[in-house]
Amino acid sequence: MSKGNLFIVSAPSGTGKTTILKEILNSVAGVSFSVSHTTRSPRQGEKDGVDYHFVSREDFLALQKQGTFLEWAEVHDNLYGTSRQEVEKTRNTGEDIILDIDTQGAGQIKNGPATDAIFVFIAPPSWEVLESRLTSRGTESIETIHLRLQNAREEINKILFYDYIVVNDLIEDAVDMLRAIILAERSRKKRSITGTPLPISLLSGHEEKATN
Ligand code: ADP
Ligand code: 5GP
Repeated sequence: MSKGNLFIVSAPSGTGKTTILKEILNSVAGVSFSVSHTTRSPRQGEKDGVDYHFVSREDFLALQKQGTFLEWAEVHDNLYGTSRQEVEKTRNTGEDIILDIDTQGAGQIKNGPATDAIFVFIAPPSWEVLESRLTSRGTESIETIHLRLQNAREEINKILFYDYIVVNDLIEDAVDMLRAIILAERSRKKRSITGTPLPISLLSGHEEKATN
């Protein structure tokens, strides 16, 4: 069995990444979502252990010192990190895993041990739409919205570092595009050779085996 794929998905806050990923988890089999640790307070409706592992700054830093995180970063004044163990455990079952992380964390993975990761950037169709989505979500103060919009400019500048770009204009189109990327990556030639059953009998020189 081959290892599951590791997908890194980044987007400026408010783009619609959480909305798209929920649709993907509901509609694509064999893919799961890595639950990060964060020092941010839960939003209304968010559940500990489901949306995030909500921890104090002190606990986060203790985990970081123990080497718990595959990557971690300070984003919009809060700490966020991905559990190394959770990612490896899932991939070793053959299931794909998606990391919803910022561009700093994506950079750490690109330069780190998981060199086979696939990088997807979700972009808003325009700055105006991004601001309006962030505001209409109604979960952030005006100050936090300004900070997130300011950081979005820097995040967009990292776009060329990603393998795929998905523009979230119509939600259905963006979900279709990300689903297509996940399915296409499962059919890559290198994955067929290392794990997924390859119809070897179809290759020339193997006709005899095919008839045996
Ligand atoms: P993120 O996780 O990227 O911060 P969310 O998924 O929370 O963003 O989406 C931000 C807001 O925009 C939410 O209110 C969501 O319902 C809305 N939204 C997401 N995608 C679209 C879309 N394609 N068209 C219109 N509204 C959207
Ligand atoms: P939010 O607070 O809106 O849930 O997330 C804010 C930002 O933190 C988003 O860009 C999200 O992708 C990023 N983020 C969430 N979890 C992690 C993580 O484990 N590591 C890193 N580096 N960023 C994360």
